Amino acid sequence: MQNTERFLDPNIPDEMAATIRPRALNDFIGHDGLKQNLSVFINGAKSRGEAMDHVLLYGPPGLGKTTLAHIIANELGTNFRATAAPMLTKQGDLAAILTSLEPMDVLFIDEIHRLPTAIEEVLYSAMEDFKLDIMLGEGPSAKSVRIDLPPFTLVGATTRTGLLSNPLRDRFGIDLRLSFYSPSDLARIIMRSANILGMPIDDAGAHILAQSARGTPRIANRLLKRARDFASAMNATQITPDIIRTTLAQLRVDACGLDEIDREYMNAIVRHYAGGPVGIENLAAALSEPADTIEDVIEPYLMQLGFVQRTPRGRIITDAGYKHLGVEK
Ligand code: ADP
Repeated sequence: MQNTERFLDPNIPDEMAATIRPRALNDFIGHDGLKQNLSVFINGAKSRGEAMDHVLLYGPPGLGKTTLAHIIANELGTNFRATAAPMLTKQGDLAAILTSLEPMDVLFIDEIHRLPTAIEEVLYSAMEDFKLDIMLGEGPSAKSVRIDLPPFTLVGATTRTGLLSNPLRDRFGIDLRLSFYSPSDLARIIMRSANILGMPIDDAGAHILAQSARGTPRIANRLLKRARDFASAMNATQITPDIIRTTLAQLRVDACGLDEIDREYMNAIVRHYAGGPVGIENLAAALSEPADTIEDVIEPYLMQLGFVQRTPRGRIITDAGYKHLGVEK
């Protein structure tokens, strides 16, 4: 598959992420209600001198979960430790991290729904009582030991709360859901990033770009960086609406922010399954994409646009979806 086709994949790591990522709650754009609540929780924990309650962040990739986890640690004035569930394969991997925490630290576990059950179970007492229950050795000589942990805040991020077990979910005191951003919030994010990157963008350009960014800050920033490349190639000192239009056309991103893979997904349902319903496994096979990627990356935004619906019998393309493809039903 060509690079441009996967351009909008929010799972691809970002260039210059550290430079652009907001560090303080005030710099985090949008989601005002969530920020107000978070600020109350952070200040409460700080004034009591306690570790903040554990936080579960959920929402599609690229909406700011990792960014918020960093911000929580910054605002609390504590260390930030990060790992991801796929990196934790043995109980000892998690035990090593937990025992190296300092009091009040923030431990971020990305993709927490992927934790193997045996490791998840270690988290229960760690989260609830700040105790680590772990088996040392194997077979008849194995013994269970209990180690005190410093109070800490676990921040878990997941794209799918549905895959989280109830015992784990219940141990998070704070649940924060990130939804897609409005075009006006995305335009503000784009203006802020453009200033940091040293290539200003005018208001009209930021709004056009925002419309094509799938409600996702990571994609907005990525499109902006490509627009900056086109601007440099044209010796421009500012990103204008024309440069944005050229960038989007070159990357084959349409006015709704859909790319080749989205169109392929919708076309597959229309052509091979008469518009649906079709099950996710069949679609995954037809597109040669893992079902996970389809569910996490492709579908949420298409559903938000109302182009696709998930029904108990499978996925269907809606009238609006047919219209967007320019295909008669
Ligand atoms: P996630 O962890 O949900 O996949 P990230 O936190 O890595 O997403 O966010 C992706 C990028 O988008 C970050 O590098 C950050 O620069 C930008 N970003 C996300 N949310 C915001 C926001 N609310 N305001 C400004 N920039 C944001």
